[in-house]
Amino acid sequence: MTTIWWIRRDLRLSDNQALRAALDSAARVLPVFILDPALWNSDYTGDKRRAFLLGGLRALDADLRARGSRLIVRHGRPDEELARLREETGAGAIFAEADVSPYARYRDARVAAHLPLRLTGGLTVRPPEAVRKRDGGVYTVYTPYSRTWRALPLPDARELLPAPEHIATPPDVHSLALPDMPVLPEGVPFIPGEAEAQRRLQDFVAERIAGYATGRDQMALPGTSGLSPYLRWGMLSARQAAVAAVNARPGTDVGADIWLGELIWREFYISVLAHFPSVRRESFRADLRGIAWENDTAAFDAWRTGRTGYPVVDAAMRQLLATGWMHNRARMIVASFLTKHLLVDWRRGERHFMQHLLDGDPAANNGGWQWAAGTGTDAAPYFRIFNPVLQGEKYDPNGDYVRRWTPELARVPRAHLHHPWTLPADEQRASGCVIGVDYPAPIVDHVWARHRALAAYKEARE
Ligand code: FAD
Repeated sequence: MTTIWWIRRDLRLSDNQALRAALDSAARVLPVFILDPALWNSDYTGDKRRAFLLGGLRALDADLRARGSRLIVRHGRPDEELARLREETGAGAIFAEADVSPYARYRDARVAAHLPLRLTGGLTVRPPEAVRKRDGGVYTVYTPYSRTWRALPLPDARELLPAPEHIATPPDVHSLALPDMPVLPEGVPFIPGEAEAQRRLQDFVAERIAGYATGRDQMALPGTSGLSPYLRWGMLSARQAAVAAVNARPGTDVGADIWLGELIWREFYISVLAHFPSVRRESFRADLRGIAWENDTAAFDAWRTGRTGYPVVDAAMRQLLATGWMHNRARMIVASFLTKHLLVDWRRGERHFMQHLLDGDPAANNGGWQWAAGTGTDAAPYFRIFNPVLQGEKYDPNGDYVRRWTPELARVPRAHLHHPWTLPADEQRASGCVIGVDYPAPIVDHVWARHRALAAYKEARE
């Protein structure tokens, strides 16, 4: 008997519950990836993430071949392609890791209506329905959610599922080639695949987790794990990451505990999306659905291309374009700047991020944007408006981050780096950065923008 392991965002062999369930149910397993045009061509994806996915699938195929198997690739609507594959191969059940986005649930319901689809856990450590209030209600605030999350038992490291040594796969099943394009641009510092995810996890836990508590907010440092693209694509299981944090060696426990808290934020937003799918379309907070966004196209373009005149914002937006990743602190700063300083609808920023991030994820990205805009479940208060100059001075005190991504500011003295427009004209010339010529003047004044945002939010609430 043959079963299908339908791979979606679980591109790994180790600790994979769907793969294990498939192996347990039949002697032969067909690992299948279906390139779904609805996702591939969506306005909420982009070439960097497409290329990262393709690289991950190639790495998975190589890992499967080393175990006597291989990846079967098909293109088309999943329900139709899976029905065809079952006819061709006589396969029985289809095993897949459950996903929560509205599209994933619609897609899976369509498959399950006609085919024996069996969904397993694995996207998260705790399935969204497992973390509930005492009265069965759903959490919409992080701290009590995380308390309940932490009170539930975690698997022992020995209970994680090892990668199978051998996978028997029928030899004569046709596979389409993966597209050659797009490829990852040079400058993207993430190698797709499970081996790299494992390497990064080991390196982070051994070398850097101890310093996470202090280093994680410094934008110029490699203070965070850089695992988000791997968790997003399931090249690493969330369970393995959580177990690594809990078992971190003595002396690293403060950093490890805060890092576990970040993994729990990931699970919190997945739970929010699972229970409130409408957050994909509208603000969670009903009283803030009527904000009169300005949505100025020139302002949005300046933000998108890193030309706002605020160095920390511009550095971050250019880091995103060049690498497909952005530091978490920087994400908060630029999202606050777009929604509050420029009064651009958070959904536009959300979409831009989805078009450029390797880790672009419907739950975490929506959660992050609604947090920054103040419209979300457990959001920053709407009246807290980040000052981009102070944020830069605090989280990039030496200016290394700004200098790296906005090279035209490289010779501006440190004392003026986060507000270069205050540098006297002769010093601007001396540093090779004349404001308005070599680098833009700020597109909005902070104090004015702050008042405008507060007024717009107040009006919406009234
Ligand atoms: P680490 O600090 O090492 O954290 C470990 C892991 O925890 C991350 O890999 C990630 O999976 C998870 N995590 C950390 N912080 C958060 C958080 N605030 N919310 C949810 N999960 C978190 N993260 C994404 O994975 N995909 C996104 O599309 C995304 N969009 C964001 C948009 C905005 C506006 C904001 C403010 C945050 C967004 N984040 C997103 C969360 C966070 O910025 C990234 O997960 C983090 O920067 C990834 O770097 P890291 O792997 O080094 O994180």
